[in-house]
Amino acid sequence: MDRRTFVTGATLAGAAGALTACGGPSPTTANCVSTASGETFEWKMVTAWPRDFPGLGTGANLLADYIARLSGGRLTVKVYGGGELVPPFEVFDAVSRGTAEMGHSTSYYWKGKVPAAQLFCSSPFGLTAQEINGWLYYGGGMALYREAYEPFGIIPFAAGNSGTQMGGWFKKEIRSMADIQGLKMRIPGLGGEILERAGGTPVTTPGSEVFTALQTGVIDAAEWVGPWNDQALGLFSAGDYYYYPGWQETGSTIEAMVNAEAFAALPDDLKAVVEIAAQAMNTDMLAEFTFYNARALKTLVDDHGVQLRAFPDDVMERLQTLTWEFLEEQAAGDEFYGRVLDSYRDYYESVTPYSRITEQYLMGLRQGA
Ligand code: CA
Repeated sequence: MDRRTFVTGATLAGAAGALTACGGPSPTTANCVSTASGETFEWKMVTAWPRDFPGLGTGANLLADYIARLSGGRLTVKVYGGGELVPPFEVFDAVSRGTAEMGHSTSYYWKGKVPAAQLFCSSPFGLTAQEINGWLYYGGGMALYREAYEPFGIIPFAAGNSGTQMGGWFKKEIRSMADIQGLKMRIPGLGGEILERAGGTPVTTPGSEVFTALQTGVIDAAEWVGPWNDQALGLFSAGDYYYYPGWQETGSTIEAMVNAEAFAALPDDLKAVVEIAAQAMNTDMLAEFTFYNARALKTLVDDHGVQLRAFPDDVMERLQTLTWEFLEEQAAGDEFYGRVLDSYRDYYESVTPYSRITEQYLMGLRQGA
C-alpha cells in the first residue's frame, strides 16, 4: 500500500504523552504497551455487496462495529458499499493496493487471481458451514488460505457464512440434464464452472444487477444466496421456480481481507481485535442467515406463492461427478491447487462419515414440522 496513505490515516494523538509513560531511557516492553495504545487508526473497508444488504452488507457493518468497540475506538473502519469507492469485483485489487485497508467479499470472486481460492469459500456438493470451519480453523485450511493471498499482500480471515444456499430461480422447470443445455444462469465460482461442463452458460452478475437480468430474460436462471437475500432482491417476481438444494454452495465462507502492510502496522492487541472480531462475525452471520432464511422461506411460499422444486436426482449425481472431475483436472496443472485440494479432500473424506451418523441421521428423524 501507499505508505503515505497509512500515515495520514493513523492519528498519533496521545503518543507523546504515552512515551513519557514508558518510564525513561530504557523502558521495558511492558511499560511501552501504552505507546501503542495511544495510536489510533482509521481504515476503510470496501465490500462486494450493496450497502446495508441483509446479512452480507450488514455483516460488514457489524464487523466494523465489533472492531471499533473491542478496540475502544482506537481502530475505526468506515464501510463502503459495492461501487461506492470501488466496483464490487475490484475489492481484491483495492485491498492489495492499499486503496482500502479492508475488504469484505468471498474468495470465489477471485478465481482469476488464485483459482484454488474458490475452495476456501465453498465447493459444489462440499462442506457445510460447520464442517468448513473445522477445516479452516483446525484442518490446515486457513494456513493455505493465507498462503494463497500472501503474494498479493492480503491477509484473509473467515468472517461469516451464508449456510447452505438455495439452487436458484428458474424460468422453466429442470427435468433432466437436457434442460441444462444452453441454460444461461447467474452462478459464480465453481458452480459456474460445473454448469459450463454440463452444457450451460454461467455468468457472474453482481447482486445489484441480478433481478433486472433475470426479469428481462438476459439470463434464464439465477442463484444468489437463499430465501432471505433472494426475497430482498425481489427474485420471486422474476423467476417462476425456486430450486433446492444449493448444490453449488453448501456453506459459503464470507471473507474479510486485510492489507498486510496495514495489519503489520497495528500493535499486537489491535491485531487480535481484528482476528477475534472476524471470528465472532463468522459465528454471528451464520446464526442470522439461519434464522432469517427460515422465516423468509415461509413468506415466499405462503405469501408470494413461490413454487419449490427439488433438482432431479440424476441431475445432482451428474453434476457431482463433473465437480470431482473438474477439481482433479485443475489440480493436475497447478501445484498449489493440488495441495489445497488434497487438504480439502482429506478432510471431506474424514468428516463425511462422521456427519452422516450424527447431524445427517438426526435430521432424517425429525418430527413435528
Ligand atoms: Ca450463491
